[in-house]
Amino acid sequence: MGIYEKLGLKHIINASETYTNLGGSLMDSRTVAAMEEAARGFVDIPEMIECVGKRAAELTHNEAAHVTTGAAGGVVLSAVACMCGCDEEKLNLLPNTDDIQHRDILLYEGEYLNLIPYWKLIRYTGARIRLVKPNVQAMLDEVNERTAAVFLFPGRLYETGVPACEDTIPALKAKGVNVVVDAAAQLPPISNFWYYTRELGADLCIFSGGKHIRGPQSTGLIVGRRALIDAVRFSAAPNAQIGRPYKTGKEELAGFITALEIFVNEGNESLYQRQQLQLDRLEELLRLGGLNEIERLKEGRLGTFQPLMHVLLPAGKTAKACNAFARKMEQPVDIGFYGDEFGKAENLIFLNAYNLSDDELNAVANAVLAYVHAEEN
Ligand SMILES: *Cc1c(COP(=O)(O)O)cnc(C)c1O
Repeated sequence: MGIYEKLGLKHIINASETYTNLGGSLMDSRTVAAMEEAARGFVDIPEMIECVGKRAAELTHNEAAHVTTGAAGGVVLSAVACMCGCDEEKLNLLPNTDDIQHRDILLYEGEYLNLIPYWKLIRYTGARIRLVKPNVQAMLDEVNERTAAVFLFPGRLYETGVPACEDTIPALKAKGVNVVVDAAAQLPPISNFWYYTRELGADLCIFSGGKHIRGPQSTGLIVGRRALIDAVRFSAAPNAQIGRPYKTGKEELAGFITALEIFVNEGNESLYQRQQLQLDRLEELLRLGGLNEIERLKEGRLGTFQPLMHVLLPAGKTAKACNAFARKMEQPVDIGFYGDEFGKAENLIFLNAYNLSDDELNAVANAVLAYVHAEEN
């Protein structure tokens, strides 16, 4: 009996997204092996954090990097670094920021604040969040001697109605203010590892380790300027500062760096092609089952470099009901459905091969077809 069965749970096939609610992504067997090996011996943890960070910086073409507990942990640690630097006296005051000069964190106002509420975590640190009208000049006007940083959230959906990173970051850099980008799910392409920092000029950029990188679910990556990464590390575990709750173990560090290496070495094209072939097969199975309104897309839902498939279910059927139906099957499958914020037809499902293996494709097609052909009652 497997561990999920022992716990009374069912293994789910993920045809939707790298959702945390499903467990993010699956680790390569080499990543699991690295974690297992790390679990068998002690090591000097500060030294390991240092050298894993150095290797991650090399692999992502950044000055410096730090591996943390997830992109959400990265958001908190980045805010702290921008407020306090490596100043222990300031860190000891948190979350009281009355006597901290750089304590304001600026965000654009916008609908995205409701879609990705991770910015709220910045408040843990005691930072004062100030919402700014969504235009670049307004943001420039709001920057002053109390500003610790500006946080930005790229992605097509999130940037709807707010200025893009491409317009905001260079303007802010001319003013010398810290810019932090939360690009947690903006992968692939791997060039995004250095796009926001080296090309646009952001000081820090945050990625999720447990989504597209396929690292341990509980990991994340902060890349960027060395002085700020040093500050991140200073406030983070194993030090007993505000970042101590964001502790990565030797197993996660070993797993993350192995996953990152595999992700970077596989390259965008080969990853894309593998998914494309899987979607070809899925499309074939769905057409054989009588579904013909199928569209193939060249980009992921947030504009990432991955293929996607849209399937319009027959009138009267809904994507949400399809998901619920497939999740209740003997072999549960998670079928993609768009939230209302995307403004899509309610009978449109999406299928994403990022987390699928070849031998799961039949089950995915069967689940969709079983829903479509199920008798109404
Ligand atoms: C997923 C996500 C996070 C949280 O990432 P974790 O690695 O699960 O902590 C933060 N910000 C954005 C934009 C995300 O998409």
